[in-house]
Amino acid sequence: MKQENITYIGRFAPSPTGPLHAGSLVAALASYLDARAHHGTWLVRIEDIDEGRSVPGAAEGILALLAQLGMHADGEIVWQSRRKHLYQAAADTIAAHTYPCGCNRREIADSRLGVAPDGAAIYPGTCRFGLQEGRSMRSLRLRVPEPGYDVIGFTDRFAGEITQRLHGESGDFVLKRADGFWAYQLAVVVDDAEQGVTDVVRGADLLDSTPRQIFLQRVLGVPTPRYLHVPVVRNENGEKLSKQTGALAVAPGDEAAALEALLQAARFLGLPLEKPASLDAFWRTAIPAWSQLLAGREGAALT
Ligand code: GLU
Repeated sequence: MKQENITYIGRFAPSPTGPLHAGSLVAALASYLDARAHHGTWLVRIEDIDEGRSVPGAAEGILALLAQLGMHADGEIVWQSRRKHLYQAAADTIAAHTYPCGCNRREIADSRLGVAPDGAAIYPGTCRFGLQEGRSMRSLRLRVPEPGYDVIGFTDRFAGEITQRLHGESGDFVLKRADGFWAYQLAVVVDDAEQGVTDVVRGADLLDSTPRQIFLQRVLGVPTPRYLHVPVVRNENGEKLSKQTGALAVAPGDEAAALEALLQAARFLGLPLEKPASLDAFWRTAIPAWSQLLAGREGAALT
C-alpha cells in the first residue's frame, strides 16, 4: 500500500570538523535513501555549534560533495551557529529543570562513578541543590529523574529495543558547556523539533545519546521522532573512522570516483547492488533496494 500521505522529514546533520569521510557518507546515504524511499523531505543541517572544533571551509566541502554525489537537500541549509537564540529560548522555557554547575572535569572524574557510554564522566549531582560556597557557574545541567523513574526506552528501526537508565548511566547532563557553547544534546533536540523532523537516521555512535535526547524532548514538550541508527564504519583495527583516516578521494567532476564511493557505502549498508553505469542508475536501483532491505528488517513494507 502506498503511504504518500504520511509526512516524513529526515535530515543529515554533519559536524564540519573535516571533510566528508567514508563513515559520514554512510550516514548521509542512509538518511537520504530512507527519505526518498518514503517520498519524504530530506534536510541538511550543518552542526557547527562547537565553534572550537569547526574547520573553516569544511562545511562548504561537505555540501559540494553531497551535491556531486546527487544528494540535494529539500529546502535551505541550516547552520547551528546562526541559531543560538533558539537554544537560549529553549533553555529558558525549561529553567525549572536545569541548574548551574560549578564542577570542573577533574572533580567529576574524581567522583569515580564511571563513564557514560559516550565516554563522558557520569555526573554525581554535586550542584543539584545549589552551587557550593565560593563557586560560580561553569555549565548548565538538566536534572534527570531519580533511579527507578529514569529508564528511557525506544525501538530503533535498525538496532531494535534500546533502554538506558539515565540516572545511573549518564547523570544530570550538560545543556550549556563551560566554554560557553550550547551542547550538542540541546541543539540537536531543538533543531529536530523546530524543523519538524519525523525520522532521524544516523550512525550508531549516537545510539547512546538518544535516550538523553528523548528525555529532553519530553521536558521540552516536543515530539519524539522515529530513530534508525546504522552501523559505524571501522578501520582494520576496529576503530571508528576519523576525518583524517577516512577522507574520501572524490575530485570535483570525477563521476567514476563518486560512484565508487556511493557503491561502497551502499554495500556497507547491506544493499546488494551491481556497479551502476551512472549516478542516475545508482539512485534508481539504490532507493528500492533500501526499501526492500528495511522491509525485511522491520517486517513491513515501507511503500
Ligand atoms: N553532528 C553529528 C555528527 O556529525 C550528528 C548528529 C545527529 O545526526 O544527530 O556526528
